[in-house]
Amino acid sequence: MTKFVFVTGGVVSSLGKGIAASAIGSLLKSRGLSVTLQKFDPYLNVDPGTMSPYQHGEVYVTDDGAETDLDVGHYERFLGVSMGRQNNVTAGQIYDTIIQKERRGDYLGRTVQVIPHVTDEIKSRMLALTRAKKPVDVAIVEIGGTVGDIESLPFLEAIRQLRLELSTVNTLFIHVTLVPHLGAAREIKTKPTQHSVKELRAIGIQPDILLCRSEVPIPQEVKEKIGLFCNVPTQAVIEAIDVSSIYEVPLMFHRGGLDDLVVSMLRLDAGPADLSAWQQYQERVKAARDSVTISVVGKYTHLRDAYKSIQEAITHGGAANGVSIKIDWVDSERIEMDGPDALLGSSHGILIPGGFGDRGTQGMVLAARYARERRVPFFGICLGMQCAVIEMARDLAGLDGADSSEFDPQTPHPVIALLESQHGVTKKGGTMRLGAYRCVLAPGSHAAEAYAAGEVSERHRHRFEFNNDYQAALEAKGMRVTGVYPELSLVEIVELPDHPWFVGVQFHPELRSRPDQPHPLFKGFIHAAHEERARRAGATDARTGAARS
Ligand code: GLN
Repeated sequence: MTKFVFVTGGVVSSLGKGIAASAIGSLLKSRGLSVTLQKFDPYLNVDPGTMSPYQHGEVYVTDDGAETDLDVGHYERFLGVSMGRQNNVTAGQIYDTIIQKERRGDYLGRTVQVIPHVTDEIKSRMLALTRAKKPVDVAIVEIGGTVGDIESLPFLEAIRQLRLELSTVNTLFIHVTLVPHLGAAREIKTKPTQHSVKELRAIGIQPDILLCRSEVPIPQEVKEKIGLFCNVPTQAVIEAIDVSSIYEVPLMFHRGGLDDLVVSMLRLDAGPADLSAWQQYQERVKAARDSVTISVVGKYTHLRDAYKSIQEAITHGGAANGVSIKIDWVDSERIEMDGPDALLGSSHGILIPGGFGDRGTQGMVLAARYARERRVPFFGICLGMQCAVIEMARDLAGLDGADSSEFDPQTPHPVIALLESQHGVTKKGGTMRLGAYRCVLAPGSHAAEAYAAGEVSERHRHRFEFNNDYQAALEAKGMRVTGVYPELSLVEIVELPDHPWFVGVQFHPELRSRPDQPHPLFKGFIHAAHEERARRAGATDARTGAARS
């Protein structure tokens, strides 16, 4: 039978609950257990697909085309397992289901209420995980929001009820909390944690384990105090100190005894932990000598969460190449003002990520031109690929005013345009091209070389497509289509064969990158950037050598 670990958060938001839940999952997996994760979000949107990146950060797309919370990305990266629609549930989905049932008459004669109807629907989504074809040993359920929020109360009530129904040996409550260190007083403060646990206990939940986020190590006597006031054994007060890489978290939790505790409290039949993959990753990161600078040119650059998976995939690519990466976040609107030379001069590789709307796209077009002309490795992802196509259409193929019909509906040359099937679509939620599609690769291309395959599957989230009417004109000028979705003849990858590494992809490869399985295109891109760095260092040596002789 599947056992449940419920993860709640207290004191403040942004404590890294998603990473904590993922790390717990990876530890249990390393002990031979099968694990899944599920996130509950308390907002009323049906999914984050219609939210601005400023509100929500990245929208993470799964193979089955669900638009989900960015924590689902951490789940996949830490577990190496593909998630799907059922791994992210929002209050909006719960209420949507209930209202549809009510209109159908399923509750005929009764008043529909938060308890039991909303809580029952929440529980049924959790229990659905146990009815998978091959049920997992442990389901880790993360409750979004902070304990004390009005919005998350029904979720907390649902997990309180589940413990009664499933019993203590089958359920575990882990509360992630903050133990602040007051620099001026040089003191660690336990009161916020005490209050947050008091809040949980007032609604009938006694946490079993406290994961205490702290900037400094928590002394034994402070752990004892927290345990005493929060009614938790001292060894179940586990510190979660800030670390430089999120991939150190499983190792840190293991040192703190967390997996032993979970295994014994849930009476799981588990083997010893094999953390060699995590250790090897850390060793590779620490062994890196050269530093490579990658410029990410986007319009949400001051909000890093908007590019979470891009950032992680670049990091994985760096580790795979034995280099450390400096990411230079470049606001594309600044390129429009200051020009690409000023902002991209020191970068060894230029990446343009996905995005929506016209703002900042001219700066992206300028960045793509700079990369093409200066032969700097270039990786365009979704909107980034579209901007590269617009740039080549205007500058290589002489198609004046070429654009995407998303940015200029009146453009004389809509090199990026809506698919016929998208023309009548007026609803915004869940109507893009979403999820995994196959892509057939052209032999001899950078892409085929990187993947070492003839066909791959990648995830999508976009409405606009390369317009095949312009393929011949662009190919005549040196662009090459190197990946297609044959069923609809959709262009998925474009390249410049006569360039060290210039690849644009319509899909989102960053969503498939894992620390121990870096995405081949990110690995190839960073490799090319590393070579660019070496080339420049060589050129500098040659210049100074010449000056000396
Ligand atoms: N806005 C573009 C489209 O809808 C690109 C989307 C993206 O980059 N995810 O096609």
